[in-house]
Amino acid sequence: MGWGAICAAADPVLVVGHKNPDTDSMVSAIAVAHLKTRQGIPAVAIAQGPPNLETRFVLDRFKLATPPVLRSVAGRRVILVDHSDYPLAPDDLTKGEVVGLVDHHKLGGLATDKPIEVWVFPVGCTNTVVARMYAAAGIAIPNDIAGAMLSAIISDTLLFKSPTTTQEDRDAAARLAGIAGIADIEAFGLKQLATRSEIAGMSGADLLHADLKTFDMHGHKVGVAQLELMDGSLLAPRKDDLLAAMRKLKGEGYHSILLMLTDITRQGTDLLVVSDDVGIIETALGLKSPGSSAWLPGVVSRKQQVIPSLEKAFE
Ligand code: MG
Ligand code: MG
Ligand code: MG
Repeated sequence: MGWGAICAAADPVLVVGHKNPDTDSMVSAIAVAHLKTRQGIPAVAIAQGPPNLETRFVLDRFKLATPPVLRSVAGRRVILVDHSDYPLAPDDLTKGEVVGLVDHHKLGGLATDKPIEVWVFPVGCTNTVVARMYAAAGIAIPNDIAGAMLSAIISDTLLFKSPTTTQEDRDAAARLAGIAGIADIEAFGLKQLATRSEIAGMSGADLLHADLKTFDMHGHKVGVAQLELMDGSLLAPRKDDLLAAMRKLKGEGYHSILLMLTDITRQGTDLLVVSDDVGIIETALGLKSPGSSAWLPGVVSRKQQVIPSLEKAFE
């Protein structure tokens, strides 16, 4: 064992996804930790919060351990997965050392002192990138991890319906399904996505925070949350609840809070907005009817169809 490996053994690299973790963040942390450990660099998956309902279903289905919640990475070596924006990373990330990045989002301003290992590709899911990493390393993906990686691709691409989906996501999903022994991806995916409709016991604040991402847009704090349901009309009776939670959250120094109520079947998004300047949001997204709510046909991807326009408007 070399000196590097001895150091590593005493202090495993932490692999962590974004705040308010989704299935892609949790599973890519698990898979990358497994791969790095197999490559002789001991690593463990952690998470910045508990699993959501869908991720719970996935971890249970494939009998994978839930990554422990750890919000501090000071003094530790870190691999970021599924994000590179500081507001989405652990708050004390700059007190740790980022040694790797595996992602499928825009680069979010990450700066490092030393060269790092970077795997970033414009595909629909971080786990599609992770599948590439396994292939490049010539290491077999275990059945349980393969199944969860398939689930992450289903989750991020909305069962291949999101415009972010690439052929590589489809190919990776087919390969992973083969390893995991999932014969019918469509049926399995629909069952998985149905877990998102179990919203009865959740408060407006729970729903808002479930998949909230906070960005620094040219000095403005902007929150964009998204709820992706097979049937978005389930959320219609909750709009007042949700707007109240958005107004409350906005008090925490936000310029704007957007909530995308995305209907996977109808392929569109009902957008709720609370902002200091609704005009800038309307201009950015080409909203025709002013007000606190608008239907955006064809818009289902936060990363591809909403964030870039917002960033431009705040420039
Ligand atoms: Mg994610
Ligand atoms: Mg992702
Ligand atoms: Mg998502």
